[in-house]
Order: sequence, then structure tokens, then C-alpha cells
Amino acid sequence: MNYQELVNVYIKLDSTTKRLEKTEIISDFLKTIDDDSIYDICLLILGGVFPAWSDKELGIGDKLLIQAIAKVVGVNKTKVEEQINADGDLGIACEKLFLNKKQTTFFAKSLTIDFVFTSLQRLSDISGNNSTNKKISIITELLSLASASEAKYISRTIIEELRIGVGEGIVRDAISQAFNIDKKVTERAHMLTNDLGLVASVAQRQGEVGLKKLTLTPGKPVKPMLAQLSPGIKESIKEMGEALCETKYDGIRLQIHRVNDKILIFTRRLENITLAMPEIVKLIDENLPHFDFIVEGEVIATKNGKPISFQNILRRVKRKYNIEEAIENVPLKVFLFDVLFYKKPMIDEPLIERRRTLEEIVDTSKDEINLSDMIICTCENANDAEALFKKSIDENHEGIMIKDASEPYIPGLRGKKMLKFKAEPETLDLVVVGGVRGLGKRGDFIGSYLVALRDENDNLKTVAHVATGLDDETLEYLTGKMKEYELSQKDNRIFVQPKIVLEIAFSEIVKSPEYEAGYSLRFPVVKGIRSDKGLEDIDTIERLKSMYKE
Ligand code: ATP
Repeated sequence: MNYQELVNVYIKLDSTTKRLEKTEIISDFLKTIDDDSIYDICLLILGGVFPAWSDKELGIGDKLLIQAIAKVVGVNKTKVEEQINADGDLGIACEKLFLNKKQTTFFAKSLTIDFVFTSLQRLSDISGNNSTNKKISIITELLSLASASEAKYISRTIIEELRIGVGEGIVRDAISQAFNIDKKVTERAHMLTNDLGLVASVAQRQGEVGLKKLTLTPGKPVKPMLAQLSPGIKESIKEMGEALCETKYDGIRLQIHRVNDKILIFTRRLENITLAMPEIVKLIDENLPHFDFIVEGEVIATKNGKPISFQNILRRVKRKYNIEEAIENVPLKVFLFDVLFYKKPMIDEPLIERRRTLEEIVDTSKDEINLSDMIICTCENANDAEALFKKSIDENHEGIMIKDASEPYIPGLRGKKMLKFKAEPETLDLVVVGGVRGLGKRGDFIGSYLVALRDENDNLKTVAHVATGLDDETLEYLTGKMKEYELSQKDNRIFVQPKIVLEIAFSEIVKSPEYEAGYSLRFPVVKGIRSDKGLEDIDTIERLKSMYKE
């Protein structure tokens, strides 16, 4: 199939902001595909060429792409940069430059989806000597065969900013609609495989029956099951009947896989951080059986044996160098709390059975590897859960988790069967979309950050400016990131790609016409940078409204 056909779909998708219309457009398109290209098409519609479980990236910066565009269009780099500044969007600028291009390629062969897809995939495998030139030559080859509209979307895909307002939820619904499949079945297949290309191709060839057969595979991370807020410890236990109450540790969540001799560690965003945590790999290797498994737990940073702030562990995880030094300076402790696969998939077994398996397979004699502190509660001993909460807080942990003992593990679900009860008031996770340069002492920094949340169509809506809670080190770090993600500037304002997630505390939610959300936050304070979270994890207007009502 020609790439132009997909581009025509992108253009249609770009012309509406309505979720249902977007779903319809994709579904109609998927129905017309009768070959294996459906795999590539689904990933390309999501803006990439690798499934979500893969940690491969194209890794192409704007500069390299600008060089390639300049070469193909026959202008110098400055001209390309000027056009980007004028349009505020690399894709649009690229399209305009192509339309004005003097030399047209006659008799050029058409770009096929397969060629675009495989060329882009090749980009991520190039490293070492001469890699920049090799990458430029692949991009130049692609662009020189492209029409203006194709060039727009190829360049956006290359910088991983497709901007057609299509997330995983829309593609998933479109697959259900196109092949007449129950949404729940598609959703489960997606959560288990994390590969919408695969889900689409199985749906196309084998329908619902095939999708139901898809399952977990050690080595491929699955979306974690998430928690809702508990209204009260006793109330939640009563509702569940029997609950596992566990200490809620304030670190980062790890999903640890063993496949043959290999141990892999993923974050909740499914990033592979194995290399940053060699001591955890060793611990797991030495203290769990040598069969394939997937276990989950929280890793915390400690000082003199006591837990320390969550931000320390994030810094530790981000380290690429001097890991040995970090191992000594920031010792880690793991608390395992679930097992999803042990010799076979286990997610459909009740939590209490999974916990028993975990107790059987983990050797916890070393101080650095533990199971979460847990008690089984019913109405009769709900007081014990309150005592566990108090003990957890006294030991500097965040609170407790209350989990329904009879429940299966449902990847990606934020449901009522797993709850959290914390001592601190709720915060919001918001994405930075802009900023304002500081005054006086803070003149070199972006001092105030414009933050946004998601609406029901996955559009971002601004909700507040936040300028407190930031020490000089964080300000410097954030200012650097803002420059890296800059889209445009006006006066003392900067607008950026939505990449930085901040956890924000506040005193009150108020109605406000000043912000796109229609609400704002009083006295917002940055509690931390949530680099373990992405755009898909930020809070929604729906949650804000329900907090406002409360
Ligand atoms: P928060 O910001 O409150 O940590 P979150 O959005 O990161 O919440 P939630 O799903 O709301 O994630 O809360 C559950 C998180 O708590 C898990 O993702 C995990 O990282 C952490 N956690 C700590 N201890 C446990 C435990 N014993 N069982 C399950 N999750 C735990």
C-alpha cells in the first residue's frame, strides 16, 4: 500500500478533535486492509514504528532532521530553521518547503508503507562510526521520494511528534469497531501484549477467538494494575470482604522479568532500566528460582537503613554512568508484592493465591529483598489494618494499599479492587506546556510553569501556573529541559512539548475562566518531577471535577 493513503488518513484525523470521529476514520481504514501491513499501519498511526513494550527509539534530534530536509529541498539549514520558527511546527514547515521546492523528482517511485516503516526501524539500529551520516542518508532517501504532505508526516514521525491526537485508546476502539470485537476483549489483549499492531493483525485474521488466546510473555512488559483512592480503611475492607492490606512504599514500581538466563527490569512506563540496577538483577538472580517469571514490587532508596525521598530513587534510576558509586551512595531495597507469571501466566488467579506463590518462591533472608509487609483483613480484624497504617507512616512510608484478596490481576486497570490510603493530601500529576522567565535572582531560569491536564478527548487543558517548591538545582534542571522541548517563544514566555510531568500539591480547587480547564489551583506547589510518568499518566479534568465536588 502506498504511504500516501495513510497520509490521507492522517489529514482526515487532523481535521477533527472528536474522539468518535477519529475512531470511525481509523476503523473504516482498517477495514480496507487485507494484508500484513495492518501491523505497520497501527504503529504508524500511533506515531511510531515499535510496539509499546519495546524500548527501541528512533533517537533522531531536530538538528539531524533539519540537515536532511535542507539537503533534499536544496536550501541551507538556516532557511529551514527560519521556516520552523515562522510556523512553530517542524512538520508544517517541512511541507511548505517541499511545496516551494525548485527541483522536483520526476519519475520517482511511490513511497510504500513497508518502505517507510522499515527505513524508520533501521534508524534505531545505527550506532558507532559514521552513524550520523548513515542516518542522514536514510532520511534523505525517504524524503527525496516523498510528496509535500508525506514529508510533513514522515518528519513528524521521525521526531516522534505526530500530533494527530490519536492515542492507544482510540486505535484500540477502532480495532474493535473494524472487526466487530467486544471492546473488553481488545482491551485485555492490548494490556497483555502491549502491542496494538499485533492486536490488530490477530483481530483481522482470527477475530475474537484469536485475541482471547493472546497472553503474557516474560520479556515483554505489561501495563501495571493501578490503584484508586480508598475512602476509608474499614469501609474498603468491608466492601471487599477479605483484603490484603500492605505497606505502601514510596519508591518506584518495578516489573521484573526472568526469561531463560536473562533478568530484565521495567518501570511502570515500561522503560527498560535493567542496566541502571545491576544490584537488583543480582539480588533477583540469587533469591528467586531460575524459572521464567514476572514479579512486581517497589524499590526504595535508603540511608542508614531508613527510607528516603522518592526523588532520590528517580535520580538513581536515571544514572547511566558511575553506577558503582551510586550503588554505594544510594542503597536500594526491594519489596515484592505480586507475581504475574511463574512457569505459566498467573494473572487470572486470585491475589491471595499469587501472594502464596510469591511467599514460596522468594528467599527473603537478605535485608535488601523483602515481600511487602502484609496482613489479611476482614471486618473482624480491620483494626489491624489501621495499626499497619500507623506503623507504615511511623516508618516513613506513604500509607497502605488495600487489595481485594479474590481478584485477578487486570493489567492497566485503575479499579476498585486495589486501593491506596495515604497520610498526605492528594496531589495532581500535570504536564508542563509552557513557562515564564523569572525575575531578579531567577532571571536566568524559567521561574513559573504552565501546567495542564487531559480532557475526555485527550486534549490538554491548562489549569495553573506553578512557581513554588522549586530549589535552584531543580530550576536549573527544568530550565534545561524546557529549552530541549521548546516549541516557540513569545516575549518572556516559552511553549514546550508536553514531556515533563510534575506532581503538584495545592490548597484548593477553584473555578477560573483564566485557564482552559475552567478551573484552577490555589497555592500550587511542586512536590516533585515525575519522570516515571508520561503524558498518558497525567490527571484528567474528570478527576479534577470530582475532587472539586468533594
Ligand atoms: P502515587 O502517586 O500515589 O504513588 P501512582 O499514580 O504512582 O500513585 P497508583 O496506582 O495510584 O500509582 O498507586 C499505586 C502505586 O503505589 C503503585 O504503582 C506502586 O508504585 C506503589 N506501591 C507501593 N507499595 C505498594 C504495594 N505494597 N502494592 C502495590 N503498589 C505499591
